[in-house]
Formats: sequence, C-alpha cells, structure tokens
Amino acid sequence: MATLKVVQCDITKLQVDAIVNAANQTLLGGGGVDGAIHHAAGTGLFAECATLDGCATGDAKITKGYNLPAKHVIHAVGPVWRGGDKDEPNLLRSCYRRCLEIAREKELTTIAFPCISTGIYHFPKEHAARIAVETVQEMLPSVPSLDVVVFVCFSRNNFEIYQSLLERDKDNAEPVF
Ligand code: ADP
Repeated sequence: MATLKVVQCDITKLQVDAIVNAANQTLLGGGGVDGAIHHAAGTGLFAECATLDGCATGDAKITKGYNLPAKHVIHAVGPVWRGGDKDEPNLLRSCYRRCLEIAREKELTTIAFPCISTGIYHFPKEHAARIAVETVQEMLPSVPSLDVVVFVCFSRNNFEIYQSLLERDKDNAEPVF
C-alpha cells in the first residue's frame, strides 16, 4: 500500500505522475495554487481546461501537465467554507475521493495534493487536514497502483498540522522529491 508523505514546498516543482490543483468551477485559472500551476504549465493547460466544460464542486478532472515536471494535473474543485453547514466537509471528502478514483483509472503511482480549500476558500485548516488524511487512508487499499501520496503544504502552519496527524510514523515527514 502507498506511503503518505508531507512536504513543505511549491507543488509546481514536483516530478510526480499527477499534482492536484485546487481549482474553481470554471477550470479557467484563478489565484493561489491554481494561478501558480497555470503559470508554470503554460498556455497548453489553459487550452485543454477550456475544453472541459468546467467542473462541479466535489468533483475532479484530469489534464496533461504541459510544462510542469508532473505528467498530469487533476483539477479538483473544493467547497467554499460558508460556516460548515452547507455540506462543506462532504464536498471536500469527495474531492480527495474523486482524485484517487482518477488515479486508480489512470494507474498513477505518485500523486501530490495541496491543502484544498484552505486558502481563498477559507476551510478551517485542521478540519481540512483531518478530512484529507482520513479520506486518503480509507481509499488507499482500493488504489493498488499508488506508491506514494504526498501532502504538499505551502505554509509552515499546514505543514505542522499534517506532521502531527501523521506523526505516528515519523519517517513520513521526510521530503522525498
Ligand atoms: P482554495 O481556493 O481551494 O482555498 P488556494 O490556492 O487559495 O485554494 O489555497 C489552497 C492551498 O494551496 C493553501 O493552503 C495555499 O497556501 C496553498 N498554495 C498556494 N500556492 C501553492 C503552491 N504553489 N504550492 C502548494 N500549495 C500552494
């Protein structure tokens, strides 16, 4: 079964089968990690995204990686936090699940997730991290192709949250790429 890793870095630098983008429903780019991914991938990514007809919240769609070191980008649309009673936790769970279903279909071996919804969408960070780790752990047995799942934290704060969630196995905290 795949190993879970946590790293603090820029997700656009990772050489993995797929990086996940915290996209919006248009899939046509935005701020935060979405902007960084489109900037690094180049206009080919925008052109492919424009053919996808957007994406519902809680769902995900895959494209090629273009100028990124990653082979693919899985664009997941996380929920905007609106107080927690608008199905936000289930929608966030669904994002992680859909990404791993796509990883299974495409037989990906390495995938890297950003902290979906915890930036501009304001999902509380600890709650989001718990959902991310739990959902990935639940799904892993059904995605046999995966060797490594990386949780990519841009901020020290998120890095520490994920480290403490995964601290039962300290080796998981070592950068791998
Ligand atoms: P959302 O709209 O889903 O909240 P954001 O891009 O605003 O998306 O933030 C999601 C997370 O991605 C935040 O934790 C933010 O710190 C992080 N982030 C921003 N830029 C990068 C990057 N280049 N690599 C990895 N994570 C990033």
